[in-house]
Order: sequence, then C-alpha cells, then structure tokens
Amino acid sequence: MKLLIKGLLLLLPITASGQNAPFRLREEQFEKLPFGAVKPTGWIKAQMEKDMQGFAGNLDQIVPDLVNDPIYSARLHKHSKAKDLGNLKEGDIGGDDQYKWWNSETQSNWRDGFIRNALLLDDAARKKRVKQYVDHILATQDSDGYLGIYDPKLRYRFVSENGELWAKTTLLRGLLAYYEATQDRRVWSSIVRAVDDVLKHYPINHSNPFFAGKEFSGGVAHGLTFTDICDEMYRLTKDEQYRAYALFLYQNFSANFSFEKDVQWASIVDPGYKLSGHGVHTYEHLRPLTVAAFSTSDPRYAEALGIYLKRIQDATTVAGGPIGDEWVGGRKANATQTGYEYCSLQELLDSYAGLLQKTGTPSFADQIENTFFNAAQGARDPDHSCIAYLKTDNSYAMTGPLNGGANGDEKQTRYKYSPAHKDAAVCCVPNAARITPYYVQNMWMKQGDSVLVATLLGPSRVQTRINGEDVEVHAATAYPYNLSCTFSIRQARTREFTLKIRKPAWASAAETDQPYVEEDGFIVIRKAFKKNEQIRLTWRTQVTDHKDATGAHYFTYGPLVYAHPIPAVAVTGKVYTPVFKDYLYTPRIKKEYTYIRNNGAVYKQGRIQLKAREKNSDTVETLTLIPIGKTILRQAAFME
Ligand SMILES: [Zn+2]
Repeated sequence: MKLLIKGLLLLLPITASGQNAPFRLREEQFEKLPFGAVKPTGWIKAQMEKDMQGFAGNLDQIVPDLVNDPIYSARLHKHSKAKDLGNLKEGDIGGDDQYKWWNSETQSNWRDGFIRNALLLDDAARKKRVKQYVDHILATQDSDGYLGIYDPKLRYRFVSENGELWAKTTLLRGLLAYYEATQDRRVWSSIVRAVDDVLKHYPINHSNPFFAGKEFSGGVAHGLTFTDICDEMYRLTKDEQYRAYALFLYQNFSANFSFEKDVQWASIVDPGYKLSGHGVHTYEHLRPLTVAAFSTSDPRYAEALGIYLKRIQDATTVAGGPIGDEWVGGRKANATQTGYEYCSLQELLDSYAGLLQKTGTPSFADQIENTFFNAAQGARDPDHSCIAYLKTDNSYAMTGPLNGGANGDEKQTRYKYSPAHKDAAVCCVPNAARITPYYVQNMWMKQGDSVLVATLLGPSRVQTRINGEDVEVHAATAYPYNLSCTFSIRQARTREFTLKIRKPAWASAAETDQPYVEEDGFIVIRKAFKKNEQIRLTWRTQVTDHKDATGAHYFTYGPLVYAHPIPAVAVTGKVYTPVFKDYLYTPRIKKEYTYIRNNGAVYKQGRIQLKAREKNSDTVETLTLIPIGKTILRQAAFME
C-alpha cells in the first residue's frame, strides 16, 4: 500500500516568465477522431442502452412542457414573458430573464445527448427520431442563416441577460456531431451559415457580445462556450478565423462585467483570487481559456491555463467531483461538505478532453477517468434511471438537503435521485445523457497519420485510417472493474504503424505479450501488425491511501475510489410518469468511521477490506469497501 498526498502532481508546470511554456503554443498534439469513429462496447454500451430506455431516451415524456416549447421557431420577442419552468427557484439568483432562454439549454443539451447516444448505439428507430429533429431544426433557420431563439428585433442587440450565444452553442454541438457521423452536407451548410451569421453580427474585435450591464447574466456567461463551436469549426476546416474568433470571445468576456469572474484574465493573474463563481460556469470556462491559449503565440496564456487548472484541482475531491453546489465561493474541496452538480461533472470532463487532445498530456486522461468512473458513476442511482443533481463523496442521506439537512439548508431539493429534477432545474439530467458519449468519443485519438492512441481506457471499438488505410481495433475489457484488456486489431494486410496505449498514473507496471517502449506516459508498440492480431495487456497496481487537503483518507485500487456502502431505505418522491419517479434515501444504520494507521487495507476480488474505528462505540471494525460508482449512501473518506 502506498500513501499519496493529493495535489503534488501539478497538471502543467508553470514558469514565471512564460518562457519554457509547458506545451508548444498553437500546436495541437493529438487529433480528435470524427464523431462516430469510436463506438462503445461492453458495460459502457449496456449502460448507454439503459439510459436510452430511461431518462436519456424519454425526457420528452418526463418533462413534455419544457421539451415541447417551440423556442427555436416561435422565438422570443420584446413582449415575451418569462416561462414557468415548474421549478421552486430556491437558491436561484438573477431575475426572470434567465427563464426566457432556459428551455433552449434543456432541449439542446438533451438533444445533443440523444443524438450522440442514438448514433453510437446505431439503433434505426432512434436514428429516425434524430433525423426528424435535425430536419425540424434546419427548417427554423432564416434565409440569412440565423438559427436561434430571438426575433429579428431582439437578436444581437442586447444590453442585459440573454441566451443568444448559449442557445446556439447547445444546438450546434448536437448538429456538429450529427454532421460528422452522417456527412449530411445540408447540415454542414446550415452550421456554416449559422456560425457566419454570428461572425457577421458580432464582428471580431469590433463588437461587444458579452456586455450585459451589472445584473446577473448567467446565460451571457454560458455563451462564452461558443468557443466550443469555434474549436470544432477550426478542427473541421483548419480555417484560422475560427480560432481567432475564440480568442476574441475570451478577451471580450474578460473585458466586461460578469458575476462569473473566475476565468476572466484579471482574476487569473491576481495571485490572491479564489474561485467564487457558479461551478458549472467555472468548469466549462476552462475550454474557452484552453482554445484561447492555443489561438495565440502569447506564452502568458499557457501560464494562465496552469494557474486556472491548479485552482480547479484544489476545488475537486479525490473522487473527481468539483465544487458546484452551486457556487464555489472560495472553498476547497471537502468530502462531506462540498457538493458537486452533475452538470459540472460533464463540463469538467469535456474541458479536460479538450486539454488531453491539445496537449497530449496523459494526466488529463487520468482526471477524466477519475471523474467519469467515480464522481459521475457515483451520482447515478444504480437501481433506477435517475441521477443526483448534487452529490458529495461522503453521502449520508439523499432526501433533498445536504446529508439530510443538518446545515440549515432544509429547503434544498437537489440531493436526491430524479429523472428530471424539475423542482430545481432540468439541467443535470440532459448533461447526464451527454457524459457517456462524450467519454466514448474521446477514448481514441490520432497523432499524425501513423499513430493510433488509446487515450481513455475501457470497452470500445474504433474504426479509422492510419497511413491512409483502414484499421479497426476492439478493446475487450471490463475496465475499470478489471485491469486487463485484449486489443484485437483488424486490417486488410500486414503493415507497420504505431499503437500507443496510455499508461494510467496509478499503474506500477504493464504486462503485455508485445515488445514496447514507454514514452511520456504511454506504452508504445511500433511494429508490423498482422492482418488479425491480438494484444494482451494487464496493469499492475496496489491499494493506495490518498490524503486530501483536509486530512481525510480515501482508498483507491487502479482508477476506482472505494467507499463503505451504507444500507439505505428508499422512498418514492415526485412521480413524473408511472415509470419515472424521484427516489429519496435515508440510512438504515447511522455509523461513521475514522481512519486508523494500521488498517491492513487489502484488495480482493473487486473489494477493499480494511480496519476503521467506529466513532460512537470507539471500537475497531473490519469494513468492506466497494467502488463508489456502485453506491448510493456511503462513506468514501475517513478522517484521522
Ligand atoms: Zn445541473
């Protein structure tokens, strides 16, 4: 067993002068594969199928009023009223204006998840539904290219809260995935015209898209992620104007007043600044900063990225949950006190995926696996198609308030399992539909023409071209629940190329039947691969005892955080349909354990056994921990 102190591994080394920038500016190391090139297999495919039979496939049945609001066709105008979303507005700041655009986010994020799941699962009936949706959206486009939620008198002329760029970003992400997987040129032309319309009406360096006055403007701040679209347009066209536009958006956002200050340049360069914003914004804004850093030759951007990443790391628990309950508020991660929002998990995962692709740095993949396998799996209800809006690593009750309401926060409803969370906001469930396909699409990347890279591990099948010829690799594994994998390679003839497999940071060794070298955190196999060839690989590791900044101890084996499950009683809450309901959980037994030094932690067949002291009786008991992703109520961290 080894003891690790969290936080020692900085993601990117920072230099004071900006010289020796930690990555080569403007040069992206890995190439993302077209959407659809990587397909899920094994347990990931089974989970996506379950989601599509559940909340991801049926949100239009669960909250039909929000999904059927024709916001992209019957557009918002001067006299539009805020929409009744059926939520309690508990804990919301900002006026009613945010409720005007909100359905665009709910719909488009859900559609993005639906499109990606349907295409990756390759189901004919669902693909038909996707095509109908895409045809419908294309039909809402104006002749000048406008795709969005505002009538001609309002669009591009705002001086306060609005969802102009955000409604387009969420919509275009789904359309881009659809275009890539289907190569439907109508869709490509529609995307190009919609993006051109933005570039025309918010001209680069001669407009002020993020001016929104001094009131809260969360929709405007979300709109900074229009850089996602710029990044994708650059990837697909290699036209530098899109990268330049992303840099402009970041700089314009920094120059304007916003409640979401975390990513603004002045905050980053202020050494005393603490992350304070709305968590989802903070983690999604890592992407605009990343794209901006790769769009400029100014090395200060690489430093800024390093500073921002360190701040995010300090706000993230050992299980990969970044504070998002909902304001970061200058706090550091805490296993029992700081909740993470499901939206934040998806946004942070997507941001790290961009960094993985651009920098080629394997530690970003470790962070993605950590968040996906631990925090995100651990915020799903293992027994029902529901997710937790908010979740903590140590979770002692899921009845609405944090850990049952000991903190005077009794009106909180987000700590429970729901297929919608309509009483808070229908944001997390759509993002829970997105997270698995986003993980899958980033499992494989390319480096130049001749190198195929297994970036994220798990069961998958990739089809791509290496040195101009087709190759298919199937990774058969139960990873992360088993640390062995068989890669089956198929191609038309024997030929040479390079296969790189990321070596996880926790792996002490790799055992494989192949000759390989280890380079920069990758197992590199360079050879002539046969027409059909199998590679067997097993990672070696041991139980690891991690101590977080608060002094709490976590136990991991490989990529998984293990937790002591607390038996719970389930009660049905709000009923959406006969099938889709909320579930609230109270503990059957109230026991809490503290860490002891000679705990004898040992891994055996998917479990960790260790000794811990029970707080009330002060007796030492032997506990069996299971992967946090398979728990509901649990203790994952143990104070000394
Ligand atoms: Zn959310």
